[in-house]
Amino acid sequence: MKTIAQQINQLREELHSHNHNYYILDNPTISDYDFDMKLKELQKLELENPEFKDANSPTQRVGGGITKKFNTVVHRNRMYSLDNAYSFEELDEWENRVKKIVDGDIEYVCEMKYDGASISLTYENGKLIKAITRGDGFQGDEVTTNIRTIKSIPLNLKGNYPESFDIRGEIVFPNAEFEKLNEQRISDGEESYANPRNLASGTLKMQDSAEVAKRPLECLLYFLVGDNLKIESQFDALENARKMGFKVPPISEKFSKLEGVKSFIEKWETERHNLAYETDGVVIKVNSLHQQDELGYTAKSPRWAIAFKFKAEQKSTLLKEITYQVGRTGAITPVANLEPVHLAGTVVRRASLHNADQIEKLDIRVNDTVFVEKGGEIIPKIIGVDLDKRPTDSVPTKYIENCPECGAKLERKESEAHHYCVNTYNCPPQIKGKIEHFISRKAMDIDGLGAETIDLLFNADLINNIANLYSLKDKKFKLLGLERMAEKSVNNMITGIEASKNIEFEKVLFALGIRYVGETVAKKLAVYFKNIDALSSANLEELIAVDEIGERIAESVIEYFSNEKNQALISTLKENGIQFAVDESKFEGNTEILKGLAIVVSGVFTQLTRNEIKSEIEKNGGKVTSSISKKTDYVVAGDKMGPSKLEKATNLGIKIINEQEFIDLIKK
Ligand code: AMP
Ligand code: ZN
Repeated sequence: MKTIAQQINQLREELHSHNHNYYILDNPTISDYDFDMKLKELQKLELENPEFKDANSPTQRVGGGITKKFNTVVHRNRMYSLDNAYSFEELDEWENRVKKIVDGDIEYVCEMKYDGASISLTYENGKLIKAITRGDGFQGDEVTTNIRTIKSIPLNLKGNYPESFDIRGEIVFPNAEFEKLNEQRISDGEESYANPRNLASGTLKMQDSAEVAKRPLECLLYFLVGDNLKIESQFDALENARKMGFKVPPISEKFSKLEGVKSFIEKWETERHNLAYETDGVVIKVNSLHQQDELGYTAKSPRWAIAFKFKAEQKSTLLKEITYQVGRTGAITPVANLEPVHLAGTVVRRASLHNADQIEKLDIRVNDTVFVEKGGEIIPKIIGVDLDKRPTDSVPTKYIENCPECGAKLERKESEAHHYCVNTYNCPPQIKGKIEHFISRKAMDIDGLGAETIDLLFNADLINNIANLYSLKDKKFKLLGLERMAEKSVNNMITGIEASKNIEFEKVLFALGIRYVGETVAKKLAVYFKNIDALSSANLEELIAVDEIGERIAESVIEYFSNEKNQALISTLKENGIQFAVDESKFEGNTEILKGLAIVVSGVFTQLTRNEIKSEIEKNGGKVTSSISKKTDYVVAGDKMGPSKLEKATNLGIKIINEQEFIDLIKK
């Protein structure tokens, strides 16, 4: 019989090691489901036996700790900056300086310069004890609780490690996840984030570590600091760090001549766009630590390293006008209207100015010549003003105080970056925006109606809110009197609107356009509360009890339903037969057999159709995903499954089951 302590230790070790397999080696050896089961078991044991509490337990990865104020902590070893080089000539000059100081052959290590938030992690006896942001290089903010939620950071080290050391690296937000998150925000009517770097550093400073745990941050490490490290070179350091369980970027190369370094740079200048993370250059380091010691540091940076910065494509052009857009939630976005300019393969005419602070910070004015930059996948931004070209009669930009569309006074909450027009029910772009959202494909999916028609109907005073759509069928005569509205298009429109009465509750809920209630959140709420009455009377505690619903969403839901206008809107929609409850029969026979499993369905089947298989997966708690990745748990393979898919699944070691095996699985 194992003691409690032994059970706890064994589970912790197992979970740490599965975590490593998954997040570092990309090679999971157990299903997510089994992992979750073990984690739950450990959570239970820890709860029942609080004397075994450990801040580095795998259970701490989910977060929960709140940091009200981040403590300022002095770095044991200063975090230096890097000198930059922008041309090969500057690189040659750097080599000359190095050669003046050290004798003998010099080896260089090239690494990518990842563009995230730098971090210093302190380990003692193999355990993570502290994580500090760079700050001013001498002292930074302690963000340990948040850092513990990042799965690619080992909480306990493996193999041989120095007793006490720091390791430095970069907290990054993967590009693909960044784009996904931004799409989600746009569909929720929120502002998109400017770039992965800001998002990464912003996330590190969130107060609620449970929120941080939900963000897919990663940590790439590349620099060991400490005494007695027993290593000879940077290249060895990378290898050692890897062995201790750190996520060390795979791209690093050693060269004995600068020629090699230059071709590395040329290669990655273009290929970097295929990497999972943003990079803005290559860091070149003298490999030998002995030579590094000889070279030492300047006041700001090591002499033994230099960053070669990639050129972000940049042009200057005239800022003709600043206009202001009003989103469906009332958020105001200032937009720079530019003299069109070719940049990174496209013509740029407009650039977002984000918000009032941004305009003020860069002191951007109309008729200024501005520098526009486009870094890879990100929307063009204005990075500065060419002050030499500023006209003498130029005046500072005064941010608007009233809504450009309805004239209402704008409001700005202290915690928010944006100004808002709060005239929600009378501000035309907000009214039209809400209707456009309501009819959109992922919402009520109404055919025969688009933005132009909504404009037309709104201007003709035929619609003023989403409920009005359902009375259009009684106004056919008026509709036919409108420009461009032939009998056929009117009929199509009315049919489309009528058909939307069959749209299921979760989509209706999304369609209402409640702030922060995107597609996924709507689905969660619908499944949990089952109908609108239960949802609208739920209080904060009841709302946040739902998986993935936080306080911000909960408050927004409460605010929405406490508004009489919204309640009136909902009753009218109800009277018109819109679905405000889930179809209970849909849940009959549901199980959780496949809970937490990601399943790909591929090929042709004989007993069930492919769609039936998919809906069976969902009914049994699983998730259907379209492409095979390391996160896939099963592939249900029918006949004629594509060879490349098969190969990918096999290579990743994903379990492939046939139709019969699938049926047996859900019958269990
Ligand atoms: P800078 O902020 O321009 O002074 O550049 C220095 C920063 O580059 C460091 O603080 C690191 O956060 C970051 N960096 C990114 N990748 C690397 C790398 N491979 N080696 C060293 N520093 C890096
Ligand atoms: Zn307005």
